[in-house]
Amino acid sequence: MAKKVHTEQSCSFCGRKDSEVQMMLTGIDGCICDSCVEMANNVILTELAKKSKFKVDETSIPKPKEIKEFLDQYVIGQDEAKKYLSVAVYNHYKRITQKKTAESVEIEKSNIILVGRTGTGKTLLARSIAKKLNVPFTIVDATVLTEAGYVGEDIESILTRLLQVADYDVKAAERGIVFIDEIDKIARKGDNPSITRDVSGEGVQQGLLKLLEGSVVNVPPQGGRKHPDQKMIEVNTQNILFICGGAFDEIEKKIAQRLNTNVVGFGVTHERNKIDRDNMLQYIAPQDLKAFGLIPEIVGRLPILTYLNPLDREALRRILTEPKNSILKQYTKLFEMDGVELNVTEEVLDFIVDKAIEFKLGARGLRSITETIMMDAMFEIPSSKTTQLEITLPYAEEKINKFTLQAQNL
Ligand code: ADP
Repeated sequence: MAKKVHTEQSCSFCGRKDSEVQMMLTGIDGCICDSCVEMANNVILTELAKKSKFKVDETSIPKPKEIKEFLDQYVIGQDEAKKYLSVAVYNHYKRITQKKTAESVEIEKSNIILVGRTGTGKTLLARSIAKKLNVPFTIVDATVLTEAGYVGEDIESILTRLLQVADYDVKAAERGIVFIDEIDKIARKGDNPSITRDVSGEGVQQGLLKLLEGSVVNVPPQGGRKHPDQKMIEVNTQNILFICGGAFDEIEKKIAQRLNTNVVGFGVTHERNKIDRDNMLQYIAPQDLKAFGLIPEIVGRLPILTYLNPLDREALRRILTEPKNSILKQYTKLFEMDGVELNVTEEVLDFIVDKAIEFKLGARGLRSITETIMMDAMFEIPSSKTTQLEITLPYAEEKINKFTLQAQNL
């Protein structure tokens, strides 16, 4: 065990004498002075950082086009959102690898907000981009957050997840990316600020603001609620990129209201005719988020606002087959593992899309409908000698009709 010594000894590393240093520690065969301890500590930290699995190599930062091409493999359409995300992530890399000098321009982070109906690919975008990154990345759900002192999780627990992903490497976590899902669920309820207490609304937004704008936050290492005896980890959020996503149900009404009030006077009819009423989200502006119930400060801290398109028939059809891990590819693989070659006719694929639209299930429905069609075959085939399976339209219709009848009888 090292202990403080008072006899005149010299540091085994730099040779300075006891009287020349502030403190000397002695081991079995030698001594070390306080300056050498400090220097050794710095060397260790630098070496560990080099070994960190989250080391960013400046020469191989993916360019925006490269990031978008990667996203194209997993997410159908949504070009606008992909472009914004790719640029934001690229700039994030540039900011965290910037060599700081006294004159260097401070590149501020630009947090992002993605607005799009549920099931249009917001989370999928976030998950896909995570595969491409070598910075810690986590997805958290805003619905579990409440103001300190209420049932739910403290806002700081968002960073707990990031720390866990980074193996508690604080420096790596401080350059990470957090995707906050369902941000619309913490909007202020109604326009009237706080007649009754709004536990999961404005208070949470105020807390979140602290994280978004960049500050040093005490994070409970195990998450959940903070309690006095727990040791906290300090995390600086200045360089953490926040991507928020939300469906913002019925925000179209706020957009329409704004567009109607703005478009007055000369050329009114002309302008109004140009508005694509089926996809109002493309006109979204920060003031619509405010009208929806996000506090202005939060809106100001999410300067990049982009939207996702509703998925039309064509997009749904492509989602079934095109992505790298499309639903069809997944089922083909599952059967292949049993030595069975799966063949699904084009008509069946169209039928699945029709049903997803009919049941108003969007992209999420594609999987459950396909599952319903495949269920009996997946049950029977592993115990049979079949090597080929063709799913035809009558077969698919029979399975879906049976399921719909069962559901009606419940
Ligand atoms: P949300 O917008 O509600 O976050 P998700 O990203 O969770 O929606 O989408 C739900 C599922 O629907 C995804 O897991 C994926 O299978 C499918 N999906 C949705 N949008 C797309 C898309 N644009 N491209 C490919 N698959 C999609």
